[in-house]
Amino acid sequence: MLLDLMKTHLLIAMLLTLGMSACTARSSGNSDAEAKGADPKKFIEEVNESLLKLNIEGSQAGWVSETYITDDTSALNARSNQRVIEATERFAKDAVRFDKVEATPDLRRELDLLKVSLVMATPSDPKESEELTRIAANLDAQYGKGKWCPDPKKPESCLDINKITDVMRDSRDEKQLRQVWEGWHTISPPMRKDYARFVELSNKGARELGFPDSGAMWRAKYDMPPDAFTKEVDRLWDQVRPLYLKLHAYVRMKLHDRYGDIVLPNGPIPAHLLGNIWAQDWSNIYKLAAPANADPGYNLTDILKRHKTTPIDMVKTGERFYTSLGFAPLPQTFWERSMFVKPRDREVVCHASAWDIDFADDLRVKMCIQPTDEDFKTIHHELGHNFYQRAYKDLPLLFRDSANDGFHEAIGDTIALSVTPEYLVKIGLLDKAPDASRDIGLLLDKELEKIAFLPFGLLIDQWRWKVFSGEIKPEDYNKAWWDLRLKYQGIAPTFLRREEFFDPGAKYHVAANVPYTRYFLAFILQFQFHRALSQAAGCTLPIHRCSIYQSPDAGKRLNAMLSMGLSRPWPEALEKIAGTKQMDATAILDYFKPLDAWLDEQIKGKPIGW
Ligand SMILES: [Zn+2]
Repeated sequence: MLLDLMKTHLLIAMLLTLGMSACTARSSGNSDAEAKGADPKKFIEEVNESLLKLNIEGSQAGWVSETYITDDTSALNARSNQRVIEATERFAKDAVRFDKVEATPDLRRELDLLKVSLVMATPSDPKESEELTRIAANLDAQYGKGKWCPDPKKPESCLDINKITDVMRDSRDEKQLRQVWEGWHTISPPMRKDYARFVELSNKGARELGFPDSGAMWRAKYDMPPDAFTKEVDRLWDQVRPLYLKLHAYVRMKLHDRYGDIVLPNGPIPAHLLGNIWAQDWSNIYKLAAPANADPGYNLTDILKRHKTTPIDMVKTGERFYTSLGFAPLPQTFWERSMFVKPRDREVVCHASAWDIDFADDLRVKMCIQPTDEDFKTIHHELGHNFYQRAYKDLPLLFRDSANDGFHEAIGDTIALSVTPEYLVKIGLLDKAPDASRDIGLLLDKELEKIAFLPFGLLIDQWRWKVFSGEIKPEDYNKAWWDLRLKYQGIAPTFLRREEFFDPGAKYHVAANVPYTRYFLAFILQFQFHRALSQAAGCTLPIHRCSIYQSPDAGKRLNAMLSMGLSRPWPEALEKIAGTKQMDATAILDYFKPLDAWLDEQIKGKPIGW
């Protein structure tokens, strides 16, 4: 569910949209004298009131623009987004005024959250601010318009990222894959100069807010010193690295069998052969990697089709999952206002997303549901966002978000992990759960998605943090990128990628300046949540077979965390669900244990690492 969106995290989601105000209304001054008369309570009340109003307008405009795409709805949406961003930036900079003013712990937290809510801070110099805003919008637009045209004389042959994705998914022709890979990476070299300037100016803005650089500003969101957070991420990676190395060795062996010496038996894996343009999700090459008898013993898509399951049936089934845990049913408006089916008469954004229009009860899902295995899991995932949103709706506005930005995605995925064969039996879709002999297929498929992602989820910001801090200089952008991809992923290009290229810019989140560590955290946390909730549910099966369906005990634990929102540091929220304040990747090892022994067998005597 990596790409799905959770709409309307209050500030953060909005701030992903670039194009901040050029002329920032600065606070009238930062002097302590002035601060003496300032009342933080009044300030936060004003912030809450103003941002609530602007954000509701923003979500309404966003909803209409995505479910009824026209030039006008897009323009309205862009305008209201701009208003939210401008206001947030103004308030974030204003919040600095209260640094030395006495405030209750809750108020202090709200002020702090405001200060770290920006993804990009513009410098106070109006000229520089305008330049930064323009560059950021350009980088985003350049990516969005990115196309590779194999034959420039034939525009119809041009491939955008969707078509590139299709080829990477479906083709096993090494030459074609390499061509398409190189083709897509031609979109980013023109971004290179702009990106260096963008780094310079956004760092300047971050320093004005009191952060050493933009990367430190991003890391400051995690309730711990930025450097401690860097160490924490490394620690989690060390826990799962041995498992990744085995998966890497196994997949490399299979790719060597398929492609011969293009894949060296003991070297890094070529970047273009893993079924995904960034090699961040390998599940598209499942068939190539799976052993002969690895089918899971049932096909959920076939079952749903046989049952003539409708989109509404699928959503109702998802809702029943949550009510079985003790959550109240979704409000009537959810059913009236959501979009479950692709309309026949107009353009819409089909990409699944969960919305929280009024930050209270107006919850919605937007999705073009098909009766497939994937959509069945996705609807369980999306509803996770909605139930989270409702659980924290009574908190002050600035606390209406997940405990950190990894938590929201992790919750949806946690519930999706409960969509097990045993669950399908309970809800009458499957007669009998397949026995343990089918686990290899089920788990290998999941490892290719979840474990393969981890090093990628980590390295994007490893690169950016170092770029922002100046440790990576502009003249080494590409070299440093590939050094990290080699170090963490064990992946390399099969051809020289020197500094005439700018390969990081061919990834959306770099061009659009969206922080990425949240996805790494979400992939770690979901297994920790799943293990803890399965224990609360009294599940005695291996945890990859546990579902928390119909467990009010698990539901109680889950709700204890969800209802905290962002009101307390995330380790306290984690403790509610997992009984510990530390993130812990060992749940991943538990989950994949049966596959681990099998992998050991497969790669016996083969090289590990690169
Ligand atoms: Zn999601």
